[in-house]
Amino acid sequence: MAEITLYNTATRRKERFEPLNRKNVRMYVCGPTVYDRAHLGNARPVIVFDVLFRLLRHVYGADHVRYVRNFTDVDDKINATALARKEAGATGSLEELIAERTDETIRWYHEDMEALGTLRPTEEPRATAFIGQMVAMIEGLIASGHAYTADGHVLFRVRSYAEYGALSGRSVDDMIAGARVEVAPYKEDPMDFVLWKPSSDDLPGWESPWGRGRPGWHIECSAMAYELLGDRFDIHGGGNDLQFPHHENEIAQSRCAGHGFARVWMHNEMLQVEGKKMSKSLGNFFTVRDLLEQGVPGEVIRFVFLSTHYRKPMDWTEAKAREAEATLRKWWRQTRWVDEGDIYEPVVDALADDLNTPLAIAELHQLSHVADARTLKRMARLLGLLTDELGTWAEDADVAPEVAGWIEQLLGDRVAARSAKNWARADEIRDLLVDAGVEVRDGQEPAWVLKPEFDPAKLEALK
Ligand code: AMP
Ligand code: ZN
Repeated sequence: MAEITLYNTATRRKERFEPLNRKNVRMYVCGPTVYDRAHLGNARPVIVFDVLFRLLRHVYGADHVRYVRNFTDVDDKINATALARKEAGATGSLEELIAERTDETIRWYHEDMEALGTLRPTEEPRATAFIGQMVAMIEGLIASGHAYTADGHVLFRVRSYAEYGALSGRSVDDMIAGARVEVAPYKEDPMDFVLWKPSSDDLPGWESPWGRGRPGWHIECSAMAYELLGDRFDIHGGGNDLQFPHHENEIAQSRCAGHGFARVWMHNEMLQVEGKKMSKSLGNFFTVRDLLEQGVPGEVIRFVFLSTHYRKPMDWTEAKAREAEATLRKWWRQTRWVDEGDIYEPVVDALADDLNTPLAIAELHQLSHVADARTLKRMARLLGLLTDELGTWAEDADVAPEVAGWIEQLLGDRVAARSAKNWARADEIRDLLVDAGVEVRDGQEPAWVLKPEFDPAKLEALK
């Protein structure tokens, strides 16, 4: 069994990964707030943790990995988009407009992320389906003195948790100095954060011991992770922009509620635009959908992401996309007509070494160079590349179905010639194919692979 090592943000080093239960490996990743299309940066954690999901399934078995990624479907930004629609004349109550907006955004999210070859997580809980669990957790935190009510709000008392800041390795005072903490008159301490807040009548709200209101963002993940993964689980992931305050707050809430919570914390670095994080608020973003509509195949986007290690910042460039496309076209050509071969451990080992996807890709290039198409196909698929789901976009331009049919026919003629012991004819066909750039493999099933120098015109001449 491959030994996996992962960089744990909480300990700031690479650690050997040993799941709590090999039959039930559990991972939670913070998902999107569903108010708009995902931008390209949002795709990074989705792809990174998809590769980890695939690796864990490979090592522990597909039925032994549970991956939870939430949808935050209660949020001021969602309310704002629904309100804007109402003001623009949309019919329906605000609640209906909100539901419309979140449903539509979730549908887009699935479409866009599936175009990138990512698997659906085992569970995709919506925050609004777990309000009861959040309320229960908040009640517990109040009872144990870790939270207090003030002015219709419930706040978490950060100073009550001595280890606050341990994830990022900073003290509370340092964090106050560096953070944009919201100062509010009802807070005992500026670092305290909201667990529950009141809702006005025109906003979504739920009845609670503190009146009609809605949860804060951080408690959502703590409650859903506990409900779906239990007291302790293996891996918690997300972008490194979530490390503070979101993940520090998740830890504080869950630990103070008496839960073990996550053991390994993993954070992907940011997708950047000219040195700055791509984000909606900076306005320096484009969506995954924009790229797909410009004709950039999802598989190319995936490949570009995997070419950089997840703990390094990266830029999206057209040059990278062009290079990725050329590589994928070549690989498609090589592997289209072969069956999957055997596992090639160097690729698994690269992924098992803290998801070293650039090294895994380098190993795939090696397989391509030595024309081991079967192994290339099997191992590319471990990275979610060259899969049937991602379609045949690369193949169409290179191998028209009639060309493939023609090659198959020539190979069939060759098999017939050989069984008739007409060796001269069999060799002739092989030489003609090789000359056109079609490599012929004699096996139980004769297979063929198009070499980069494949020239369909030469094949035409054979007709
Ligand atoms: P949000 O909807 O902003 O909470 O983000 C959803 C996920 O995308 C989180 O895991 C973020 O850390 C991640 N994310 C947001 N912006 C970027 C970016 N520019 N690069 C990589 N990940 C990002
Ligand atoms: Zn979260």
